Amino acid sequence: MILMKAVTFTEFGGPEQLRVTEVVRPEPGPDDVLVRIHAAGVCYHDVLSRAGKIPGGQPGRILGHEIAGEIVAVGARGPADRVGERVVLYQRLYCGSCRYCLGGRQDLCRNSRVLGEQGGGGYAEFTCVPAQNAIPVPDGLDMNKAALAVCPVGTSVRAALGVGEAEPGQVVLITGAGGGLGLHQIQVVKSVNAHVVAVTRSEEKSDIVRKAGADEVIVSPDLKFSGEVWRRTAKQGVDLILENVVTATFGESLRSSAQNAMVVVLGNIGAKRVEIDPGLIIARRIRISGSGNATYKDVQTALHLLATGAVKPFIGHVCPFPKVSEGHALMERGVVAGRVVLNGW
Ligand SMILES: [Zn+2]
Ligand SMILES: [Zn+2]
Repeated sequence: MILMKAVTFTEFGGPEQLRVTEVVRPEPGPDDVLVRIHAAGVCYHDVLSRAGKIPGGQPGRILGHEIAGEIVAVGARGPADRVGERVVLYQRLYCGSCRYCLGGRQDLCRNSRVLGEQGGGGYAEFTCVPAQNAIPVPDGLDMNKAALAVCPVGTSVRAALGVGEAEPGQVVLITGAGGGLGLHQIQVVKSVNAHVVAVTRSEEKSDIVRKAGADEVIVSPDLKFSGEVWRRTAKQGVDLILENVVTATFGESLRSSAQNAMVVVLGNIGAKRVEIDPGLIIARRIRISGSGNATYKDVQTALHLLATGAVKPFIGHVCPFPKVSEGHALMERGVVAGRVVLNGW
């Protein structure tokens, strides 16, 4: 039995619940790889899990699903030639044999578990995953950036390129553009040379939104932005909308739509029901679609965008694993612009 360091929590609560402990290092099963974790992203999902505010979390489990590291051992049937390979871990332990997995939609697999909830998470020295979950990292891409390939960059790739099918020349509206997802979506959309109209509520965020590459920024404290969108698009409306907010913005997003626009719903801030005007949907042939986790292919795309510098992730704070409670506290207070990444013990 070999021990390893990990950060766990014994009961739901504040950031101070997170403590370094020693736990048994997992042993790779026949088809698994053992990964030494170099960097782990801290997702708002982890903060909510720790606080017991979302289903899936459990005290005693190791949080973290944004993991980059190096394969250090493989199981009996595992690919021995992959030892030493730098990898990011696909965050769902997907079955690989259901109709969704076989169709390339691992995000839809109903037999899957999530790293950091049911599987060993990223706040540890090592983790074990099936070899099919370890995705090679391009040479030259640093581990802190690679850790964000799955989420938030992969999530943005899924929404903008996978579901939204953004194309060169299209006009894309992004709500909540100053948030963690929005800032990465802007860059993903710019990678295909579409035109980004970003909406944010706060004047303070307009600089960072511009820095992320938005072509136009609409600061709209009252979120009545459709008139301004209409004006800026010469009354054409927008072809694609990435809706990160929804409750407070959905009506205005629909009113901003061009003919045959696609509205991708991926945020749920406020978590309230929204009203829709069926007449508007029909008249403009608006399509509405949900989006969630990245697929395996989306993560590969994300890694490529990161490696080529097309997407420069916003990393606001890097700290060693034992200081993770500091990172959670910063995120809860909303004082860090960009991601918190853990690296080093
Ligand atoms: Zn995440
Ligand atoms: Zn499956």
